Amino acid sequence: MQYIVLDLEWNQPINYQNRIYRLYGDRLVFEMIQIGAVRIDENLNILDSISIPIQPTCYTVIHPRIRSMTHLSTDTLSDAPYFEEAMEQFVSWCGEDYVLLTWGCDDVSVLQQNLDFFEIHPDLPTLYDIQPLFVKEFSLNNRMGLKSAMELMNIAPDDDRYFHNAQYDAYYTALVFTHLKNPQDVLSYPQKPKPLFHQEAAVKPRKGDLFESIEKGLESIQATSPYCTVCGKPCTLDGRYIPQSRDRLIGLAKCQKHGTMLVRVTFRTAPDGMYTMQVKTAKASRSNIAYIHTKQFQMQETPDQPSAEGGQSIPTATLDASLL
Ligand SMILES: [Zn+2]
Repeated sequence: MQYIVLDLEWNQPINYQNRIYRLYGDRLVFEMIQIGAVRIDENLNILDSISIPIQPTCYTVIHPRIRSMTHLSTDTLSDAPYFEEAMEQFVSWCGEDYVLLTWGCDDVSVLQQNLDFFEIHPDLPTLYDIQPLFVKEFSLNNRMGLKSAMELMNIAPDDDRYFHNAQYDAYYTALVFTHLKNPQDVLSYPQKPKPLFHQEAAVKPRKGDLFESIEKGLESIQATSPYCTVCGKPCTLDGRYIPQSRDRLIGLAKCQKHGTMLVRVTFRTAPDGMYTMQVKTAKASRSNIAYIHTKQFQMQETPDQPSAEGGQSIPTATLDASLL
């Protein structure tokens, strides 16, 4: 029997008021744009890997955040196969007598929703989740991201394999898997897809929410769609966050009904190198808006280093916090 580690990348609507999203609603919250997989034999040797890019047909413009994380764009995907053909390629690459493995529960849910939406029903074997086995072996209290898991196992990423590429993430997941004490125990952790829906009310950070890094926090839905202080619905971020110090940032977000919000994001360090994040919004004053737009403009003028994971990078220079 072979293990096939599966990782997916997906696109999302650029905003939830858009015509296409309103047409499909929660039947397709995320549209798959890349399948990555790594084949491992029963002696835990990594045999080969595959990347299958997918041309999206619903959310055809790649969300800027996703474009920067995955390096996939509307252009680079314009020659890629559509979902149905991509799935056929994947299933035929898998061969026979295998189980599928993923890291965490997101991929299986996104896969299932795409299969349902496009009405494709390939004969796939059970999917198992490596993450809970990892959590058990290391006696952790919480789930852990792939990158942190690698750090915990002293697995260094390669220069030419960036994160948020399905093939490379699948490869790293395979390394973590094969380095576990009892990898075969993964078969105790079948993973069922969960229904996906876009939450009408914005997601606020909860007390126990932990983020691997400040960059991850800023990429999260809580920070990219902060809540409207009046109606509680998600706002659209207006430009980037402006650092006030290493762990405090401010930004602007727009509610369609209630105008521009001032968003304050504060990080605190938590055990194991993790961070907690607090997001507070208030109606923005004109001077808030002018100040942040000026800072955003100044930051555009100063080129900065993109962060390792392609998210928003945090300039280290401390800006004046006089406004707040
Ligand atoms: Zn509102």
